[in-house]
Amino acid sequence: TKIFADRIGRIEVSATMAITAAALKLKSEGVNLADFGAGEPHFSTPRHIKDAAIEAIEKNFTRYTNVAGIPEVRKAIVDRHACDFGSNYTPDECVFTTGGKLALFNAIQVLVDHGDEVILPVPYWVSFKDIIQYAGGKVVLVESKEAENFRITAKMIETAITPKTKAIILNTPSNPSGAVVAPEDLEAIVRLAHKHGIYVLLDECYVYLTFTGDVVSGGSFTDCKEHIVVLGSLSKTYAMTGWRAGFALGPKPIIAAMSKLQSQSTSNTASMVQRASIAALTGSQECVSEMRADYIKLRDQALAGFKTIPGLTCTVPQGAFYLYPNISKFLGKGGITSASDLAAKLLSEAHVVVVPGEAFGTSEHIRLSYAVSHDVVDEGVKRMREYFASLS
Ligand code: PLP
Repeated sequence: TKIFADRIGRIEVSATMAITAAALKLKSEGVNLADFGAGEPHFSTPRHIKDAAIEAIEKNFTRYTNVAGIPEVRKAIVDRHACDFGSNYTPDECVFTTGGKLALFNAIQVLVDHGDEVILPVPYWVSFKDIIQYAGGKVVLVESKEAENFRITAKMIETAITPKTKAIILNTPSNPSGAVVAPEDLEAIVRLAHKHGIYVLLDECYVYLTFTGDVVSGGSFTDCKEHIVVLGSLSKTYAMTGWRAGFALGPKPIIAAMSKLQSQSTSNTASMVQRASIAALTGSQECVSEMRADYIKLRDQALAGFKTIPGLTCTVPQGAFYLYPNISKFLGKGGITSASDLAAKLLSEAHVVVVPGEAFGTSEHIRLSYAVSHDVVDEGVKRMREYFASLS
């Protein structure tokens, strides 16, 4: 007899897991790794955020809360978003979730049915694909061009629309490429979707790590609100990955459906995390600009280092904390057969952890997270330079 439901067979263990497991094994053997694998800030959660959680615990704010989050946290989210992006969501157009990933998962679960198509630009964050497939949806990939800095235009999206299209996923700044959808492209895509009655699921998990001047949100286009679901996260903005704090903003019926699903699964996000999140969202935002400034320095330092590696080329990321260099010049050298193979060899031979591009839908790239110390950037670049030089 069959053990597993079909749906679990439609997804794979996160592609980053294999490399993480191999890296952990080497680390446990005492090997010093230059680790660019993990997609998370190297900063600690700011003091005032931790204090708010400690205070919540001390004051016994430790019970169940409203499933969608306490009104104060939802107000803090919509106020922050309105202040930064000119959106006009009300607290009942907001659900607080156990991480941004769950906001995405629940949004897809309530919107996407078997056979529905979801447009996904390449390169993509791997979870998008699996979460769509878990819901029974069909992933429709739209290729972007590296030579155009992975630009995504309304025209590219339009050609992929069919009568079965239910939603478009946009992630800007992008994991893995760091590309930012230009404000005019974002507006055109949002308007196109609105015209066709298609939902735009906008993953804004890195929106505060945008290095270009003008930052817009899908929520900025208030006249298209009916078809926009903003997925947000405190993980990267406030160095809070382990706290699991995320949210969705969207039309009231969609938010209500997501809350209903949450009421039958996770229920509320941890009560003290909600209090900590209020402190993060309503407190001074200086910590965010300080961290952003350091990410820009780290990016520039890594890019300067890459320039000293002949054959390695890389677009200049405009946000997030990833570099997505092209490694096609090294395929075929030193027995390297693919980006995955290169990632495995970089790990075993150079002790550098990177994630192969196959995880993000491209075969000629590797992804490096530069949310690490400046010393790790220098050391990692040095090891890569030596390793690549040894191939020729
Ligand atoms: N969206 C993207 C593009 C991400 O890279 C991540 C985390 O790496 C998330 C969402 C989810 O973040 P979290 O669940 O920690 O809020």
